Amino acid sequence: MDAAEFRRRGKEMVDLIADYLENIEQRPVYPDVEPGYLRSLIPEEAPEEPDTYEDVVKDIERVIMPGVTHWHSPYFYAYFPTANSFPAMLADMLSGAIGCIGFSWAASPACTELETVMMDWLGKMLKLPEDFIAGTHGQGGGVIQGTASEATLVALLAARSRAVRMILASDPQRPETGITSKLVAYSSDQAHCSVERAGMIAGVRMKKIPTEQSDKYAVQGETLRRMIQEDKAAGLIPFYFCATLGTTPSCAFDHITELGPICNAEKIWMHIDAAYAGSSFICPEFRPLLNGIEFADSFNFNPHKWLLVNFDCSTMCSVCSTNPNPLIPLCLTLSPPLPQTTSQHWQIPLGRRFRSLKMWFVFRMYGLKGLQDYIRKHVELAKEFESLVRADQRFEISADVVLGLVCFRLKGSNEVNETLLKRINNGRKIHLVPCQLSGQFVLRFAVCARTTESRHIREAWRLITQLAEEEFPCCLISCEVKG
Ligand code: PLP
Repeated sequence: MDAAEFRRRGKEMVDLIADYLENIEQRPVYPDVEPGYLRSLIPEEAPEEPDTYEDVVKDIERVIMPGVTHWHSPYFYAYFPTANSFPAMLADMLSGAIGCIGFSWAASPACTELETVMMDWLGKMLKLPEDFIAGTHGQGGGVIQGTASEATLVALLAARSRAVRMILASDPQRPETGITSKLVAYSSDQAHCSVERAGMIAGVRMKKIPTEQSDKYAVQGETLRRMIQEDKAAGLIPFYFCATLGTTPSCAFDHITELGPICNAEKIWMHIDAAYAGSSFICPEFRPLLNGIEFADSFNFNPHKWLLVNFDCSTMCSVCSTNPNPLIPLCLTLSPPLPQTTSQHWQIPLGRRFRSLKMWFVFRMYGLKGLQDYIRKHVELAKEFESLVRADQRFEISADVVLGLVCFRLKGSNEVNETLLKRINNGRKIHLVPCQLSGQFVLRFAVCARTTESRHIREAWRLITQLAEEEFPCCLISCEVKG
């Protein structure tokens, strides 16, 4: 394909994408295929002679679309949102064309510098303390990671290095392996599974802190304090706590104003995972949920979830100025935007894509106000769904609705709710996933797509109640309630 054909095909592809997104709600949101469906649709091996572009495009509808879960359908209510906006897609095209591997300033000055500045823009939108902003003073600042899971791991590895160095400083004869075998990290029992996995990868003990429904599934300071004391008494070395702001099951918020001072006093690294909820902190009314950030050593969230920046774009900030060089042992140094060749290494891979272009396009074309409006609209839609649930005696709300997630269930057994969810998803018109809260099977309804409107919410509720009535006639549901 030469440049002339690329121009033509590129324009056709933009049309194809616009058509796909404009008409996405006509498609079943969830695919009707079995595992392994695709292998039989394409040859066993790559073609010896080139296929034509027309052949490839024809196969998009034949091979790919039947197996696509349409995350950007306004009827998609599963997991958490993943962002999708036209400015971000255009920026991604440009990033692909520039195609640099920005591992150092010299490898791509614009890539390194724009990322540093975009992280500062974001930090200022979130009103982060100055220590997290590279362009003010000290060594704080941020980098773009691929995912929140990577950020959690990077923070854990840095915390491990810092803990080992601190102990060796006071006891240089102590063998390093003897220290790491005693390290203990903590997170909520509601934390994302990537936190537990980070502990496994780092080879450290990870303890789950129990939470209660009566505390809105938030980690309590007293519980953390007690676990730390018990572990210290048993000869262990507490060194890392991953707080969650906006847990995956129910969007619960750990009390970081209470937990942060405990971590600081115990020299425990506090990392904040706000993968989903973080984007909402650009709105003044949700910013109090981030109060206590000043006690954190690192903080991460995913603009690729809820800030209209397409995957992947997970932003991680750390405060180096107040904890001298905590990330250095991992060689996780952030280059200042100067004409030098040091690397930007708060990350696992060496290579990095020019992801900040997506942030730059999106932030400029929506403006802070446009982004705030977007978050607020999703929260309003979630509140609308919550009101519909609350108005129906047969259903109950299972957790506080703070942002764009509604946890709800039929009053009744877990089996009844599992059956209802199966019916919902088998219908393929809307898509939801469940969670477990205090032993109960709960349906999660997350407002996800950029194009979701009130009419989609009302249609989703109509479908849910219709399926509930078909599957469980009223008397059965009221029996369940009584039982
Ligand atoms: N943390 C939380 C609270 C999440 O909800 C999720 C995913 O939904 C993750 C981490 C994992 O995100 P990622 O796929 O960016 O690793």
